[in-house]
Amino acid sequence: MAKTKTAYFCNSCGYESPKWVGRCPGCGEWNTMVEETVSVAKGSSKSKRGLLDSDARPLALSAIEALEEPRVHMPSEELNRVLGGGLVAGSLTLLGGEPGIGKSTLLLQNILSIRGKKILYISGEESATQLKLRADRIGKVADNTFILCETDLDRIFAQIKNVAPAMLVVDSIQTIYSPDIESAPGSVSQVRECAARLLRYAKQSGVPVILVGHINKDGAIAGPKVLEHIVDTVLQFEGDRQYLYRLLRAIKNRFGSTSEIGIYEMADRGLREVKNPSEMLLSQNREEEMSGIAIGVTMEGVRPFLVEVQALVSSAAYGTPQRSVTGFDQRRLNMLLAVLEKRARFKLAQKDVFLNIAGGLKVADPALDMAVVAAIMSSNFDVTLPPRVVMAGEVGLSGEIRTAARIDRRVAEAQKLGFETIFIPKGNLKGAGQSDFDIRIVEVSKVDELFRHLFA
Ligand SMILES: [Zn+2]
Repeated sequence: MAKTKTAYFCNSCGYESPKWVGRCPGCGEWNTMVEETVSVAKGSSKSKRGLLDSDARPLALSAIEALEEPRVHMPSEELNRVLGGGLVAGSLTLLGGEPGIGKSTLLLQNILSIRGKKILYISGEESATQLKLRADRIGKVADNTFILCETDLDRIFAQIKNVAPAMLVVDSIQTIYSPDIESAPGSVSQVRECAARLLRYAKQSGVPVILVGHINKDGAIAGPKVLEHIVDTVLQFEGDRQYLYRLLRAIKNRFGSTSEIGIYEMADRGLREVKNPSEMLLSQNREEEMSGIAIGVTMEGVRPFLVEVQALVSSAAYGTPQRSVTGFDQRRLNMLLAVLEKRARFKLAQKDVFLNIAGGLKVADPALDMAVVAAIMSSNFDVTLPPRVVMAGEVGLSGEIRTAARIDRRVAEAQKLGFETIFIPKGNLKGAGQSDFDIRIVEVSKVDELFRHLFA
């Protein structure tokens, strides 16, 4: 007998609750719970099934051959690196990001240049004609890529049987639906059920499956977070649409590290790999020196690159001073401002402070602290920093400069890009020293020492 039951699901994390609550107990967000139909007679048997249900039998661990997972090498080196060396056979990968950021472009560009492998691209968003136009714009036409515009998962599986692809892309997971489930496409239960069936298919067939998932700020559709525990790998494609740069990072990776990032630039004909991230900074106009600008060496994964920190300090017009940050942690800025007040007689309470990381980047590396405090003081005194100077080091609560990870690679990067002086934490270089580098290395142990060098 068909029985309809409803429950409330969080669109952000997938938390399930029998009754409505204003604040999700799972992730703590407000107003994310939506009502959904959970079980109907046909689907109820399915929901009891495990994710990997099959005729599997226990095997002696010693009898299992420990083969390195076979990987499909993707045409984009940046993508390969973030994946941990290519796409693993039978893996389920989720590529998340805001709508319009370039997820489909990234995938199309890659699959269109894979030769000799049948690829099935399921599109629930764009028509075949739109996809063809997009592929033509990217400039490559492959005869082994098949496009299927379909949103019914049962019919999709019927076509998968016909095509027998070596790789499957589903764009996007929020547009497809399983007829066994009553709730609408994009709802938490649909997104979960569809992903679970695709996971079963990937594991049983060995075909790698990539899902595209939209991050939607208004919470109308279930976000990729709901799927994070189901899939093997979660990649996030991010960047400000105002800027050309896009970052690809692994948030979860069962087959590799999550510290690697890939950097792309949005160009007329698709995405271009940025091999040398520092060019993001150096491409900008550096003709006239201005106060409030400092350059720091940051690390993303194992790659060092230079970023420009911009600060604007002005007298607060009203009682409460403003603090505004783009691309840097607000609490960290507040901490650094407190250190400056204590150590550099910077009158915190009377100043508005605006901080911006150039290029639309978000930086979490604490070694950028030194560049942040230098940019703030430069703007405060309205004195430009000496030209061709970079810095890397964390600032501690008592104003001490603390060591940064992989300082030798940071110094080497600054030298490679033609900078003349780098400020680093005292004692950070350990075995290596000035004689190993052509760039002038200045070691500092306190922020006031740094300021004496910069503003004396
Ligand atoms: Zn939640």
